[in-house]
Amino acid sequence: MKYVSTRGGAGAVSAAEAIVAGLAPDRGLYVPETLPKLFGEDGDGFDMAAVTQRGYYSAAEQTLLAYFKDFSRSEIETCAAGAYDEKFDTPEIAPVTKAGGAYFLELWHGSTAAFKDMALSILPYLLKLAVHKIREDKKIVILTATSGDTGKAALAGFADVPGTEIIVFYPSDGVSAVQKRQMITQVGANVHVFGIRGNFDDAQTGVKSIFSDRHFAEELAAHDVRLSSANSINIGRLIPQVAYYVNSWIRLMVAGEIAKGESINVCVPTGNFGNILAAWYAKQLGVPIARLLCASNENKVLTDFIRTGVYDTKREFVLTSSPSMDILVSSNLERLLWHLSGGDGERILDMMRSLDTEGSFDAGDLAHSSLSEFHAGHAPMLRSHAELARLWNEERYLIDTHTAVAYTVWKDYAEETGDHTKTLIASTASPYKFAGSVAISLGLGREENEFAYIEKIREHTGVPVPYGLMNLDKKPVLHGEVIFKSDIKNAVKRSV
Ligand SMILES: *Cc1c(COP(=O)(O)O)cnc(C)c1O
Repeated sequence: MKYVSTRGGAGAVSAAEAIVAGLAPDRGLYVPETLPKLFGEDGDGFDMAAVTQRGYYSAAEQTLLAYFKDFSRSEIETCAAGAYDEKFDTPEIAPVTKAGGAYFLELWHGSTAAFKDMALSILPYLLKLAVHKIREDKKIVILTATSGDTGKAALAGFADVPGTEIIVFYPSDGVSAVQKRQMITQVGANVHVFGIRGNFDDAQTGVKSIFSDRHFAEELAAHDVRLSSANSINIGRLIPQVAYYVNSWIRLMVAGEIAKGESINVCVPTGNFGNILAAWYAKQLGVPIARLLCASNENKVLTDFIRTGVYDTKREFVLTSSPSMDILVSSNLERLLWHLSGGDGERILDMMRSLDTEGSFDAGDLAHSSLSEFHAGHAPMLRSHAELARLWNEERYLIDTHTAVAYTVWKDYAEETGDHTKTLIASTASPYKFAGSVAISLGLGREENEFAYIEKIREHTGVPVPYGLMNLDKKPVLHGEVIFKSDIKNAVKRSV
């Protein structure tokens, strides 16, 4: 199976080449040319018994093998074994908890307490093998722009991985205190972290412009360096996420929560559209997902798009208590549109040009005919805080502010439509990762900093604090540097 660019201007490449490259040379995103099918009558077959016996590993291995055909079974097994180990605080890796009438797929049991660990703990293993497969002998430098959670998960995944350097840029005033601490205290000889004076878009644009700077790429190549990405534009980050939808559907059947072959809905708190696209890929594999619910906060570009077919970023950017969803340009939507258009790269290029120049595009008939399997909704901040508090007060189940957005959107949807299909809600972060907003939602009163809120929530709820967030305020700061966005290129030069 080959990978092609969504913008039609680059040749087909192997999975290994797509993973090493990150972004396609025409600035499109790599997508699988054809979508594999594992389940159902015309499926290729999937060993469900193996998932019952070997748990998450087996779901991950079988899913990855379906997409990454140039990797052998034993290679994929090595990757999964290295990634999903005791870094996770439960052998289930991604457990499902029933609460509030729904099923919460807890994706935050890894070392950084957010769902980015699910993919970023395996990406370094995949990348290392991929580099070897394509006989790339240059040093791989991973450039990452982050609004908070990706940065730490990428640092944790790539720290001290031989043959790599990892460089992370974050908006110095645009991440939570916990997120910032997690990044600037990261140990590892190949680790570089820079705050940017600016917002996430500045960091993202700076990094993207380096990817499209041919001169700079040549200069780096002369020094035996090649750039790659750990953002969800990298297909190596997206495919591992498909596995947890496969795994949890099987788990629900094994637990007797759903009948054999019963359809479910999936609801995802969405930012860059990566996680929900992974659910759509799972559906294409044959997992019977009836509806995909795309949940947004006040930055509801996607809600409007799914309802009208017009994607319009010309609006106010709102800072919310679910900052990882504060995003106006959801990169991975480009992949979905490519698939829905039947692989029409020219059409995608037109839309993306319009987005660049006009700040908007109209997907026309593409949206009307094909997006009906999606439902989109948005939840205002105070409503989702109230639902978070209610779930704790009534059922003693604590969720974070991003998950609360999804939970609220799902409740509204079920009420509006009367669709009571059993629903899996992606729970994307530990409540302790956004402790200030969670504490305020619970009515716990003000504290002077995030770390005090962690302690306060622990005292009030007794819910254990993830090990990665313990004693964070006592770890030494190793990367205090803050730079202007015009200095991003220099920072890369200094780091490699
Ligand atoms: C990254 C992130 C999201 C958004 O996921 P996308 O794949 O970008 O849509 C939601 N919640 C949390 C906690 C995140 O870290």
